Amino acid sequence: MAIHTIDDKEIESSVRAASELKGYFASRSSELGRKITYNLITYGCQLNESDSEKLAGMLESFGLVPVEIPAGSDHLIPADVIVMNTCAIRENAEDRLFGNLGVYKKFKKDKTVSFIAVCGCMMKISKNVDKIRSSYPYVDLVFDPQQLHRFPELMLASVAVKHQKIDIDNIDYLVEDKYLPIKRERRFRALLPIMYGCNNFCSYCVVPYTRGRERSRNFDSVRDELNALADAGYREVMLLGQNVNSYKGIDNEGNTKGFADVLDAASSIKAFSRVRFMSSHPKDLSEEVLSLMGERDNIEKHLHLALQSGSDRLLRKMNRPYDLKSFLDIADSFRKKVPGGSLTTDIIVGFPGETEEDFELTLEAVRKAAFDAAFTFEFSARPGTPAYDYEDQIPKEIVSERFARLLELQNDLAFKSNSALVGKTMEVLTEGISKGDDKIYSGRTITNHLVNFRADPEFIKKAGIADGDDLEGALIPVKIERARPYSVDGIMAGDIIR
Ligand code: SF4
Repeated sequence: MAIHTIDDKEIESSVRAASELKGYFASRSSELGRKITYNLITYGCQLNESDSEKLAGMLESFGLVPVEIPAGSDHLIPADVIVMNTCAIRENAEDRLFGNLGVYKKFKKDKTVSFIAVCGCMMKISKNVDKIRSSYPYVDLVFDPQQLHRFPELMLASVAVKHQKIDIDNIDYLVEDKYLPIKRERRFRALLPIMYGCNNFCSYCVVPYTRGRERSRNFDSVRDELNALADAGYREVMLLGQNVNSYKGIDNEGNTKGFADVLDAASSIKAFSRVRFMSSHPKDLSEEVLSLMGERDNIEKHLHLALQSGSDRLLRKMNRPYDLKSFLDIADSFRKKVPGGSLTTDIIVGFPGETEEDFELTLEAVRKAAFDAAFTFEFSARPGTPAYDYEDQIPKEIVSERFARLLELQNDLAFKSNSALVGKTMEVLTEGISKGDDKIYSGRTITNHLVNFRADPEFIKKAGIADGDDLEGALIPVKIERARPYSVDGIMAGDIIR
């Protein structure tokens, strides 16, 4: 696949298309005597969330407003424009997408919905596109995730021709964020992709096929954006990429830069209380990055490093080029360089050919690494990946039984990790009011532990905080009082720090 870097000139046609769409929707709005709404439905990872922030920015630049989603609804409510940003990682993704598209059929028919677009990783898999072409003619636009910057042009073309437009190509685009309007989901957190795509071809994963080859953004451009985010008041920045540790950017002088340079640049900005990054591959994580994590106060003391299996034989079959020993060496180095830090992981249970012995090795690895938390998955065969065709698939009941054993072990470890915080006072970056109780706030420690806490009315009054303020983005000292399996409870223990 060719890599193509988008420049100022190329973005002009998108800007022109956005302006035409703005005019089009303005006249629709005056015909109807109301604002034109959109509902953007996002599945999947933080890179998809970041793409959706750009899609939302573009939709709002056309004059559209987000539809109101009542609390407790399933998000599938109608709006004039529906955009579904899909994910292809899990097996049930197809069922969910096509089921959800079915929900909108009647709304399209009675004209409650006037435009439906589908994008994201699933659209890079031809059988999904073929199915939309043959069975979902009421979908207006299909495009692949690399063509996000062309959304205005593609939407305009689709609106003009009034029949289904499908635009999937084989080019890996590299687009600087400065070209795209962004509507950030969080007031305090900025998602910042520093690279796109993946070259690793783990044998179970669709990402290299859907997101293309690795391409890193220009270093100076990333640094400029970091400064702009700090000036705009963001407290937390999350550096994103499928494999951030293999970032290979070039600065304007032509010097090669690595991920440690990006982390150094981000954490040198004092306005950021938290610098986070996701995801890391064990083969690329450097000691330099671990040292920076230990030295800089504002770098999250949390490393997410996917182990996937404790069996070297299975790691080779997964095309993961490390062994358990080298993984545990990194874990050890992290624990030494970042004392009190938290280590989390991903584990796949029931990869084709997994024997009871392989699985025992995974359990043993989990015990040795003492993960503070883990995302555990039952193996899900993805069409188009080598593992899909492996003949030694594991029966579902064996996978489920192993999964339950792993979960039990990991839950114990997570509870132990949470219990170690009880009695401590920790700075919590508040994310908002807890979903279940409007007297409880939730946020995260610098170790990424989830904290639910009560705010003492005295502190609230003293800090001049209005009733109902969700405190989003406030850094608050919280005394941890109780551990739960997936979170801790606490109470505000001092004035808001900033
Ligand atoms: S490193 Fe492996 S699992 Fe991660 S995105 Fe790349 S291919 Fe997928």
